[in-house]
Amino acid sequence: MYIALYARQSIERDNSISIETQLQYCNGMIRPDEKLYDVKNFSDKGYSGKDTNRPDFQRLMKDIHRGKVKKVIVYKLDRVSRSLIDFVDMLAVFKKYNVEFISSQECFDTSSPYGEMICKLLMIFAEFERTSIINRIRDAYDKRSDMGLYSGGRRVYGYNLEDTVINGIKTKKFVINKKEAEHIKYIFEVYSQPSVTLRLLQNNLLENGIKPLYGVDWTTGKLGTLLRNPIYVKADVDIYDYFERNNTNIVGNIEDFNGKHNIQLYGKTTHDKKLTDWSDMKIVLLQSHGIVDSAIWLKCQRKLEQNKQIGNSLSNNTSWLSGKLVCAKCGHTMTTVKGETRKYFLCTGKTHKKTCTGVKQTIYVEDMEEMIDEYISNKLESLNLSKVHHSDENSAQINIIKLKVKEVEQKLSSLSDAILSGSLNEEMIAVLNERAKKLTEEKRKYLNDIDDLLISSSNVKESLNFSKKWNKADFKERKAICNVLIKSIVIDGLGNAEILWNI
Ligand SMILES: [Zn+2]
Repeated sequence: MYIALYARQSIERDNSISIETQLQYCNGMIRPDEKLYDVKNFSDKGYSGKDTNRPDFQRLMKDIHRGKVKKVIVYKLDRVSRSLIDFVDMLAVFKKYNVEFISSQECFDTSSPYGEMICKLLMIFAEFERTSIINRIRDAYDKRSDMGLYSGGRRVYGYNLEDTVINGIKTKKFVINKKEAEHIKYIFEVYSQPSVTLRLLQNNLLENGIKPLYGVDWTTGKLGTLLRNPIYVKADVDIYDYFERNNTNIVGNIEDFNGKHNIQLYGKTTHDKKLTDWSDMKIVLLQSHGIVDSAIWLKCQRKLEQNKQIGNSLSNNTSWLSGKLVCAKCGHTMTTVKGETRKYFLCTGKTHKKTCTGVKQTIYVEDMEEMIDEYISNKLESLNLSKVHHSDENSAQINIIKLKVKEVEQKLSSLSDAILSGSLNEEMIAVLNERAKKLTEEKRKYLNDIDDLLISSSNVKESLNFSKKWNKADFKERKAICNVLIKSIVIDGLGNAEILWNI
């Protein structure tokens, strides 16, 4: 039996902690009474935490399965995995083989009664961090792309990929495919005409026998994605200006935007989304050449953006629930649509494919958000509270405060009974409302006190208080937390919602 120290570093950078330092931290976690055990180091350099396909990690897991490992120590939880599912799976294996697990930075330990639960919660936030700071995490990938190197993916219509060597690094470059480039020019020119819709363009291509690279035929979605792709544009100063105005992260100097070279787009892959928010993206000026003049490319962007404003588009930022709602009847996602006064959700099976009759009741975005907000808040609170029952320290004090909370709740409920009885005049109701407000504040204060006591009695100072964090979260954070917690929200024909939780 031995103690395993595991370290991982995806790429060398100033703000990342080296393998050696990580191992030192881990070593410091070995207790004096454990000194008789052998210690083995495992390290994966140049591997990301997005999956567990890492040689040393796999080697370690093999030894665990052979029952050779007593304990695994890591510097930080995200060194093991950035995927909650992988992590939880791994914990299950550790449990099966009685392997203890310790993370030095989060000061926690699976042999403590709530270690495992806290562990899951921490992973939620590791995942949250990953989704919210996308650009920072994509380190290796980013580095390649910043140098203007090809960083993977299929070839796009209009270009072939050829092997090349740039700065001593083997990579690929985009070389114009003459025949396809003519088609690309044609597509942009046709769509830049004011009267041509994506649908008309699609029909036109079908008639002319122009086929896409992948799949059987063009769809408006595919065409939207193609027209949106800056790989086709001969990037000049106007293009630089366009992306700058859209807050896109631009890699390259403005002087190099000379109307010859094209641009590669990096960011979330938005396969089905015709339109993407440029501000989440990064563009890199390439060495290869553009096909379409910047004026025509920009004309097409303006048209696409207008369509987006007109409606039934998949704008990503209208609700933090976007993409989560699913129609129970047809299984398609529900998208947000701008009504005259309020935004609401519609089944895309109904709007786009005409195969579904949709949901009877109008589901307003703000109503749905409000409802889910409460569910998430409760969910996170329940995660916090399950700790309460088992925290010995401070538990007497917490109990006293809880009694106070109960008292306040009783007062509140009799107040609302009185208000609802209908026997009071407006003035009296106003007075009672004022009183209710005070009581609610009082209750909140007590709950905060409980939170604080819990935190002080816990080793994990930052991780608890998810519900508090949730209440303070902004749009982006909400979206990220919601993504982690909720798999989907299924809406039946009558508009009833069922939440499918990830955890
Ligand atoms: Zn439907």
